[in-house]
Amino acid sequence: MSVQHPHRTHPRMISAAIADSDHHLKFEKIRLGAPRRNEVGVHIVACGICHTDLSFLSPGVVPGHEGAGIVDQVGSAVTGVKPGDHVVLSFQSCGRCDACENHRPVDCEHFSTLNFGFSRLDGSSAYPQGIDGHFFGQSSFASYALVTEQNLVKVDKSLPLATLAPLGCGLQTGAGTVMNTLKVKKGDRLLITGTGAVGMAAVMAAKIAGAKEIIALDQHQHRLDLARELGATDVLKTGQERNLQGTLDYVIDTAGVPALDTLGQQALNDGGVMVRLTGAGGATLSRGRKILSVIQGDSVAQEFIPKMISLWQAGKFPFDRLLHFYDFEAINQAAEDSRNGKVIKAVLRWRQHA
Ligand SMILES: [Zn+2]
Ligand SMILES: [Zn+2]
Repeated sequence: MSVQHPHRTHPRMISAAIADSDHHLKFEKIRLGAPRRNEVGVHIVACGICHTDLSFLSPGVVPGHEGAGIVDQVGSAVTGVKPGDHVVLSFQSCGRCDACENHRPVDCEHFSTLNFGFSRLDGSSAYPQGIDGHFFGQSSFASYALVTEQNLVKVDKSLPLATLAPLGCGLQTGAGTVMNTLKVKKGDRLLITGTGAVGMAAVMAAKIAGAKEIIALDQHQHRLDLARELGATDVLKTGQERNLQGTLDYVIDTAGVPALDTLGQQALNDGGVMVRLTGAGGATLSRGRKILSVIQGDSVAQEFIPKMISLWQAGKFPFDRLLHFYDFEAINQAAEDSRNGKVIKAVLRWRQHA
C-alpha cells in the first residue's frame, strides 16, 4: 500500500551544522525546501568527516559528504528507492551528460557545480538565503538532506548505516584508485604516502589485489603500526625514508607534501605511475613515467560501494577498524581530532539513531 503524506511535501525544519567565521560549526534550525521530482529526502543517520569538509568551512556553508540515512520522501520521477530504504550517499553527478551516459560519473561535465557549487544544477537552492547547502549534492552535516538517485546507493537494512557512511568518499577514493584506476595486480610494488582513511583503504585494496610490496609512509607511528596490520609489507616514517630508487610500479600520494612528491617520483620504475589524490594536475615525466590526477577512485558508487561492503563482510576490507564515532553534537571536537590526526576517520551519529 502506498501511503501519501501531503503535509510532508511542504518545506521542513531541519537541524544543520553551519560554519561560522571562526571555522567552527554551529547547529541551527533552518527551513529546507521540499524535494523536487528528481530528488530524494533522506533522514541522515550518520556522516563521516573527510578533509575536504574541513577545507570548506567558510561562513554559511553546511559541509558533509559522507552521509548515510533512511529515505523519507521521493519526488515523482524517482524510481530506484522508496520511503524507508537505507542509503549511503556519495558524490553528485548529473546523470545526463555524455560522461554520465558513458558510465563515467567522475567525469560529469557538471561535477564541480554539483559538488562544490552550493546549488542545484539550475542555480536554485533548497536552503534559505545566506546558507550554502547542496555540498556534494547532500550537505549531510545535518538531520536531513536532499539528494538524487545519482548520489545515493541503496544498501541492505540489516547493515549498520553509521559504519557504512564513510564509504561514500574517502574509502572509495583510496580503494577505487587501486582497483579501478591502476588495476593493481598480483606481484605489483607500490608506495602509499599518507595513511589516513584514503591511504589505509589503498593499503587494504592493494593487499586484496595481491601486491608483492606495499610500502606505507606516514609521520605517525601508530598509523604505520595499523597499516602493517591491514596489509602494508613495509613502513617508512617521514624523515627516515630509505632509497626506493626506481623499484616501484605505483606511488599513490594521499598526503600532498612536496617532499613526498619528489620521493615518489624517484621511487618509480620506467613506465611507473604516480597518482595524486590531492587535487594537483597530471603530467608525463621522463622514462615513460606518468602522473595521474584521480577523482573518487574512478568509481561508479552504485557498483563500488556494494563491492566494498561485500569485501568487508568477507573480512578482506576491515575499514571499520579506522572509524571513531562521535555524537553529532560533538562535531567540532570530531573535526579537531580529524585535523590533527588523532583519529583516522571520524563518523558523526545522531544520538536517536545510535
Ligand atoms: Zn553528468
Ligand atoms: Zn571527501
